[in-house]
Amino acid sequence: MYDIAIVGEGPAGMTAAIYATRAGLHTVILERAFSGGQMSTTPEIDNYPGLETISGFELSMNMANHAKKLGAEVMRANVTGFDFSPGENIIRTSSGDITAKTVILALGASHRALDVPGEEKYKGLGVSYCATCDGNFFRGRDVCVVGGGNTALEDALYLSKLCDRVYLIHRRDAFRGFDALVRRINETENITLVLDSVVTEISGNERVSAVTVKNVKTDETSEISVSGCFIAVGMKPNTELLEGKIKLTSSGHIDAGEDTATNLPGVFAAGDIRNKISYQIITAASDGAVAAHMAGIYITERG
Ligand code: NAP
Repeated sequence: MYDIAIVGEGPAGMTAAIYATRAGLHTVILERAFSGGQMSTTPEIDNYPGLETISGFELSMNMANHAKKLGAEVMRANVTGFDFSPGENIIRTSSGDITAKTVILALGASHRALDVPGEEKYKGLGVSYCATCDGNFFRGRDVCVVGGGNTALEDALYLSKLCDRVYLIHRRDAFRGFDALVRRINETENITLVLDSVVTEISGNERVSAVTVKNVKTDETSEISVSGCFIAVGMKPNTELLEGKIKLTSSGHIDAGEDTATNLPGVFAAGDIRNKISYQIITAASDGAVAAHMAGIYITERG
């Protein structure tokens, strides 16, 4: 039996693994895909202390190698269910069951859909949720980015280097993202702001050729010709497998405080899956460190 099973290999999970293994705890990280989670596809990170600028991929690899060097085991498997029981939790995976005295849930969050006609039909045919993954396919084309948070702003800036024109469509006239990014957006000649506007339809033939946009103040509708529509309207926590098993908030996040403790003894929640104020790489990493510390205390106290 493992001391700690960490589910998810993003910054929260990898930091938890670094702290847990350094504390001598027998630790496994379960991850279905690749190291880094959302961080791995972030083009440029310039707010992680001590690293002026680093690509998300490089930071992901650095964290993963750090955890592995300290002795964390990584198991590539799809988690299919949880049976929580104090001191002996079972995690069901595509490669068999794992048992652990404590569990750190660090499954992160996934892209939210826009839920408009055409979105589902053109997924992979012009509709994308990842500018760094798919931007290259739209070199020299016109595209749009939908959203007003940091992801949308970063995506628009990234795409402006590849594409002819980037329409940044946001439902309000003020952005939620960092001022520094907004300044860079305003200084970028080939980004056109389409504010107070929502996308009502994504259309095309075999691939996307246009989006229909409605101005929410005037109700006026117009069509913008684009080959790609990058949707960046926020994230939803990956808690589907946990519904009915652990206390969630109304937004679907795990209800855990700054100590990362959930309503279940020995089960902790770290990173974007937890209800928190700031969803950043640094705060996910911070959660990971706290969760590993708390798991260690739980194991010691249980004896
Ligand atoms: P976010 O901050 O939640 O922003 C989502 C954006 O989408 C908001 O502007 C929102 O509009 C808009 N939106 C939501 N639903 C919509 C809908 N149905 N139709 C149209 N627009 C819709 O999400 P995010 O940008 O993915 O960022 C998630 C978290 O990661 C944030 O905490 C962010 O700061 C963090 N992050 C940090 C960095 C970094 O530090 N470099 C980079 C990326 C993300 P309203 O503003 O009107 O609500």
